[in-house]
Amino acid sequence: MGLETEFDLVELFWSAQGEGPHVGRSTLFLRFGGCNLRCGWCDTPGTWRPSRECRFETSPGSGEFEKAANPITRQRLVEAIRALAPSPGSFLSLTGGEPLLQPAAVVSAAEIAREFGLRVSLETHGLAVEALSQVIEAIDYVSMDWKLESDVCWAEEAPGTNSGSKGFSELHTEFLSLIQERGVESCVKVVITCDSTHEEVEEVCRVLASTAPRVPLILQPVTPYGRVQAQPSAEVLLDHLRRCDERLADVRLIPQTHRVYGAR
Ligand code: SF4
Repeated sequence: MGLETEFDLVELFWSAQGEGPHVGRSTLFLRFGGCNLRCGWCDTPGTWRPSRECRFETSPGSGEFEKAANPITRQRLVEAIRALAPSPGSFLSLTGGEPLLQPAAVVSAAEIAREFGLRVSLETHGLAVEALSQVIEAIDYVSMDWKLESDVCWAEEAPGTNSGSKGFSELHTEFLSLIQERGVESCVKVVITCDSTHEEVEEVCRVLASTAPRVPLILQPVTPYGRVQAQPSAEVLLDHLRRCDERLADVRLIPQTHRVYGAR
């Protein structure tokens, strides 16, 4: 018998999905520890490195947590999910950090989700192509970020992880192509900041139009955090929307809605 998968986690909690096409849906969020990118606006810098302990919400939406030492066993994770009594058909969102740094744990978490009748959503930076190929059979929905190099870089301790000499655009294209090949439902999300250029956003449109023309493109205005404190104006955001609309059939401008009512 093989070794049981263990999980390096940050937290598990219940809330409403705040981003993308499934906004507002009841969702359990399982946040993985570790990330090999550094986004200028990242609102979860505590996930960048695996932590010694994680926390599990004790009842859904209570904001009360109990701590547990990493790594977490499968059985412990099952108990933590059971405590939140998720409704069958709702989502388990695998988020981070970057879940694809732990592909075996992603597959195991997806198997647990099936036992509870949950759908599995993967929120990812969209650059770990090899890891995606290992997990994609287990995933129902991929929310793929498209990182713009004006705001995002590799972590210094993990330069070009899994990429060789490839840039973000090339890796994102391969990632998106694999999702399309396997027929998994997905969206592509681009965080728009004051530094996002028309050329960068047009590149996203070009690749989507040729690779995945029916996949929704979500333009998400940055929520100020960390070293990004300025927000693009409505005029700038609507200009991006209009330009993308000219190239793609399904483009939506959606801010992080959970911030509106103060949820996580
Ligand atoms: S990929 Fe996600 S967790 Fe990693 S730095 Fe960017 S926003 Fe933060």
